[in-house]
Amino acid sequence: MGEEIQRKKVVVLGSTGSIGESTLKVARDIPERMEVVGLAANRSVDALARQIGEFEIQQGCLYDPTGLDSLISQVSSDVAIHTGEEGLIELATMPEADLVLIAIVGVAGLRPALAAIEAGKDIAVASKEILVMAGEAVMTAAREKGVRVLPVDSEHNAIFQCLEDRSSRDVSRLILTASGGPFRTLPAAHLVNVTKAQALKHPTWEMGQKITIDSATLFNKGLEMIEARWLFDIEMARVDVIVHPQSIVHSMVEFIDSSILAQLSTTDMCFPIQYAVTWPERVPNTLPPLDFAELARLDFEAPRWDDFPALGLAKEAGTAGGTLPAVMNAANEVAVSSFLAEEIPFPKIWETVAATMRDHTTISHPSLDEIINADLEARSLAQEYIA
Ligand code: MG
Repeated sequence: MGEEIQRKKVVVLGSTGSIGESTLKVARDIPERMEVVGLAANRSVDALARQIGEFEIQQGCLYDPTGLDSLISQVSSDVAIHTGEEGLIELATMPEADLVLIAIVGVAGLRPALAAIEAGKDIAVASKEILVMAGEAVMTAAREKGVRVLPVDSEHNAIFQCLEDRSSRDVSRLILTASGGPFRTLPAAHLVNVTKAQALKHPTWEMGQKITIDSATLFNKGLEMIEARWLFDIEMARVDVIVHPQSIVHSMVEFIDSSILAQLSTTDMCFPIQYAVTWPERVPNTLPPLDFAELARLDFEAPRWDDFPALGLAKEAGTAGGTLPAVMNAANEVAVSSFLAEEIPFPKIWETVAATMRDHTTISHPSLDEIINADLEARSLAQEYIA
């Protein structure tokens, strides 16, 4: 008797962004294993309309209602279109959904993530903010509801694959790999002259603007250290970073017997997205395998902790916990927007974050409202510092 194939029903929040597009690529690649049942976008009306048509979606959400009329005119009349945060929550709790993949930039994904957990759905997390801001609350809620939080980020997905549900007692270190960004070898004295165009040229990954700048400052890795701390229930002291310019080893786990497991693949987000969707199974696809002979070498080097203060700030925020990671994240968002608007020099990004963290009084075990307040307060502190 053949085993019946499980087709996972997936809601994608943030479907027109870079991760969302890759998620739909995976859905096209493994249609017998994955069915997209809900799609949400911020304001990319035309792209969302196309996706709704292609995947024959019955429930969509346009977060920013400005383009609502245009969207409705482009989709079939039996498609329900929701808007705003209520709309995201509507999709996140759809009765038929098995998995909610959250790839919304910023804080907007937080309440929908908690609503999905509350409704008993597994969530696949691509939005860093969810675990950085509210990792403790989200993981506690998931444990209570018996649902899984599956990582989509390549590093955390790699660690997830290496751990395979093993207890954190067996782990001596999680080793996150970092590409080092475009300024990996730039002398520290030159960082002040870095331009927006230079910072937007990532050596290995193609991503959105915010995350590309975060890769250049190494705040991206810092945020990932905090995410890993909550996702795998491991204190910050056991979360380490190694620079690996080729981005082929996506991360590693060192166990207490000093044995290390690593996960490798070519640099394509479809790998971690597919594993988050098909977990605990592995499913064949059309992605290119690694060619070691062609690669020839993999390099590793220590991160420059002193020249890229983002890593140390993240370690501090992740160790303190409470509201401090949310404050770090918010201040960084404000500073990155300023840098992208060409209002501040590159090093002022981490200077702004450090100053904002210094001025914040951390609240331990915060409620969701306290986290959101800390985020807002940090944004105005950072704005003041920049002005
Ligand atoms: Mg990453």
